[in-house]
Amino acid sequence: MNLILLGPPGAGKGTQGHRLSEQYGIPEISTGEMLRMALQQGTSLGLAAKSYMERGVLVPDEVIIGIVRERLDQDDAKKGFILDGFPRTVEQAEALKILAQEQQLAIGHVLSIEVPYEELLQRLAGRRHLEGRGDDAEEAVRIRLEVYQRSTAPLIEYYREQGLLRCIDGVGTVDEIFQRITVIL
Ligand code: AMP
Repeated sequence: MNLILLGPPGAGKGTQGHRLSEQYGIPEISTGEMLRMALQQGTSLGLAAKSYMERGVLVPDEVIIGIVRERLDQDDAKKGFILDGFPRTVEQAEALKILAQEQQLAIGHVLSIEVPYEELLQRLAGRRHLEGRGDDAEEAVRIRLEVYQRSTAPLIEYYREQGLLRCIDGVGTVDEIFQRITVIL
């Protein structure tokens, strides 16, 4: 099963991605996590991504597409995967389409997790206090939500047209939302 989790920052993609990964025994591939790890380890990828992440803007497509290509090539991704935070632009989605063709795999579902704007703001403010994620600072949050609207939200139509989109109400408890997703799958 190959899934894409789509949704704004704070929608719960990471939380649901972890649960789905456990339930179905397939890796969750989070580009944000990969970048944060690279940043922590001080690799050249981390250094290249740092200033973009801190500002809350997108890391250039070619950088991201490169790391996803390498990750999908690893053995554990052959039995399926959950993409969290990728693709985030139409260009990335087009690159994924080509990658999928090359590796003869098909995206089964694109799950769009929907949460009202006001609730996203509240959740991200809560996360700033709990997890202390640098890019959850108020200004960066506003920018990330704007970037989502401008660059990522168009993917909803993109995948709807391909018949892959499944919309999930992202308001409720983690269990409730997980239940909604598994019913669809
Ligand atoms: P996330 O944890 O998915 O919210 O990602 C945190 C940050 O990493 C984003 O604000 C971007 O700067 C960067 N990032 C993660 N995934 C992508 C992507 N697919 N394309 C571009 N930038 C990304």
